[in-house]
Amino acid sequence: MDRFLIESPHEPGECRKIVKNVYAMGYLYNFDWGCKGGVHKAWVTIEAESESQALWVVPPSLRNRATATKIMKFEPKMVEEWKEE
Ligand SMILES: [Zn+2]
Repeated sequence: MDRFLIESPHEPGECRKIVKNVYAMGYLYNFDWGCKGGVHKAWVTIEAESESQALWVVPPSLRNRATATKIMKFEPKMVEEWKEE
């Protein structure tokens, strides 16, 4: 399984509707929201088999606007090996 960062934008007037949808889907605490900071986007990291499977976490009405980016962490050992470059 890979890890994906989902970014899901919505319109300023949609917040409550979207949050209710996410709550109904059981993912309320998985998402972080930018609404109170004036950025109407939600973010969640999720483990999934593929980009399209990762997007299932997003309510259907927002799915075509959402993006899934495969993310990873660099291990210290990997970074240390770059010293020769
Ligand atoms: Zn919002």
